[in-house]
Amino acid sequence: HQDAVGRGSDASDPVRPGAGPRRGFTDVMVMPLCKPGASGDSRICIGAICLCREDGLPFQEDEQGRTEMLTNQAAAHIMNLRLLDESRTRAATDGLTGLPNRRAFVEKMDEMLHRAARFGTPVSLLIMDTDHFKNVNDTYGHPVGDQVLKRLAGLLHGSVRDKIDMAARYGGEEFAVLLENTAHDGALNLGERLRSALEDETFIHMEGSNANQFHVTMSIGVASYPEAGDAMILVGKADEALYEAKQTGRNKVVSAHGG
Ligand code: GH3
Ligand code: MG
Ligand code: MG
Repeated sequence: HQDAVGRGSDASDPVRPGAGPRRGFTDVMVMPLCKPGASGDSRICIGAICLCREDGLPFQEDEQGRTEMLTNQAAAHIMNLRLLDESRTRAATDGLTGLPNRRAFVEKMDEMLHRAARFGTPVSLLIMDTDHFKNVNDTYGHPVGDQVLKRLAGLLHGSVRDKIDMAARYGGEEFAVLLENTAHDGALNLGERLRSALEDETFIHMEGSNANQFHVTMSIGVASYPEAGDAMILVGKADEALYEAKQTGRNKVVSAHGG
């Protein structure tokens, strides 16, 4: 388009985005949706508004001015909403791993359990804690520990259904996975797959030209609704199972409901 404001009653004018035949329009005005006040390179545009006139008249100068003012206001509102959205996402995301943080996790669990109670569907929760993680930090350094947590986060994220389940960073070296509409057996299976996938990962720490290989394991507690009874005690049950996994040797998956 020629410039900031495209105007024209010429039927061959390309400014109107694909909205069917042009016939009948006597004038078209296209206003960019741009950050008000900015100009030149600092001008950020996020779209355009297209007005088509059918009453046989062309747009007047004052209509152009008013449209520009309203368009600027709309652009400012849209940008503010985008900023708000970005800051909400940031507040719900863990900085190191990019996973949802504990707060986002608790919110999601509330939602899931409400749906589960309403529709009579199951929900499962896995709480996992990296085994002897302090040793990893002590042996290879904190930055290497961070890399391990990032890889583990990637493994968890890649193993759950996008936009249905949730893998979150629950705390330091603890993670949690929520599985929507998933009964206990399915959750135990996933827990076992995750446990063995981490066990099979090889981590490498370079020390000069020496490559030190090491492995990391995790313990997992699994609890499900409705077996756990009241929805609110799900976390407590999964935590107890995790504690049992730690007490009985680590690198294992323990069910909160026996078996
Ligand atoms: P256990 O098998 O009983 O869980 O042993 P552990 O060593 O994993 O448990 P402990 O609670 O003693 O230690 C947890 C360690 O995790 C200590 C803490 O410094 C480390 N940690 C927590 N958050 C982070 C992090 O963001 N990055 C790194 N590198 N380490 C972390
Ligand atoms: Mg821990
Ligand atoms: Mg630990």
